[in-house]
Amino acid sequence: MKPLCLVPWNSIDIGPQGDIRPCCKFRDDSGFNITRNTIQEYQNSDFLNNVKETMLKNEWPSGCAMCSIEEENNIQSKRQLDYARWKSEFDNYTEDKGIIVASIAFGNTCNLKCITCSPIASSRWHKESIDLLGKRVPKIETIDNVTSQNIFDLMPNLIHFDIPGGEPFLAEPDKQKDLLQLYVNSGQSKNISIHYTTNAQTFPDDTWWSLWENFKEIDIQLSIDGINERYEYIRYPASYSVLEENIQKYKNASENMNNIGLSISHTVSAYNIYYLDEFFTWCKTMSLPRPWCGRVHTPLHMRPCVFPTDIKNKIISHLKTSKHLDVHMWSNYLDNNDDSEHWNQFLIMRDKHDLYRNTNFAKTFPEVEDLINGFQ
Ligand code: SF4
Repeated sequence: MKPLCLVPWNSIDIGPQGDIRPCCKFRDDSGFNITRNTIQEYQNSDFLNNVKETMLKNEWPSGCAMCSIEEENNIQSKRQLDYARWKSEFDNYTEDKGIIVASIAFGNTCNLKCITCSPIASSRWHKESIDLLGKRVPKIETIDNVTSQNIFDLMPNLIHFDIPGGEPFLAEPDKQKDLLQLYVNSGQSKNISIHYTTNAQTFPDDTWWSLWENFKEIDIQLSIDGINERYEYIRYPASYSVLEENIQKYKNASENMNNIGLSISHTVSAYNIYYLDEFFTWCKTMSLPRPWCGRVHTPLHMRPCVFPTDIKNKIISHLKTSKHLDVHMWSNYLDNNDDSEHWNQFLIMRDKHDLYRNTNFAKTFPEVEDLINGFQ
């Protein structure tokens, strides 16, 4: 019998703190971590066997609530998206192929501490987290105790790699390159696509580009959460001029190499939702692809729906003036959701971070500041 979802068989997700799960949407804690366990221990575990048994009964495991809720609401789930993307590979999958899709964060090493991020995904957050939140989450190199050869031996039939952050070009780059070289040597690289999520404050050196020549497809996703001073505030302490320089370098590279694609991700939060039209227009002006927008889930007080109703309605009216259809969809999202119970926490933390970082919310987001002042 076909399982409800093949992902627990053919995929693996290793997060920035080393947690091992079937995929990035899976919410239950497996109890397995690459800093303590081997991938084989995870694969042979009661945890994974139970998930598979539930899938074989055509039922949703509790960890798969995100996919089940999305499908109930007619939103395409990861389960459906993966199946559509790799239909032939999924249709013809047999267990002896092992893991064919892997998402591996090689640690949380990062050069930025974006305001909507946390020390879990960024080592740069470490000190501020202790000073402001009293939380200690150390820098971690997740794959430190696993060799590139281990990963390759377990996944010789791989067709896709996701390399999220930290910042992927700073987190164990030598180990990453060793691993890619093994796939080049075996010839499997021509069947592998790789997706990177980068903050675009660094630009990969020549050794990356000569390795990538051998792969089927490289998608480099630039995470950009605003423009000008708003970019620098949210993606602290990034430089907007460095971003502009690197965008141009990435554009040149993608024009010169057939297998390189560029995409843009934009994390929508309380800080930038008002400026969505500005961002979509900027992408168009810069001849960048239409951005993919995700939203902040945590911290709760930075969610885009954190505003009290009066302010939220004004933001909705503003978004509705946009000529971009995507921006209108976000005005509907604001209309249908409410996280205003966290509003006071937003104001408290905004001021604390401003003081700590020597940033200035009112100067950087004057339109939103005016709405807040009009409300008080
Ligand atoms: S149903 Fe969704 S959350 Fe569960 S394993 Fe499949 S893709 Fe992951």
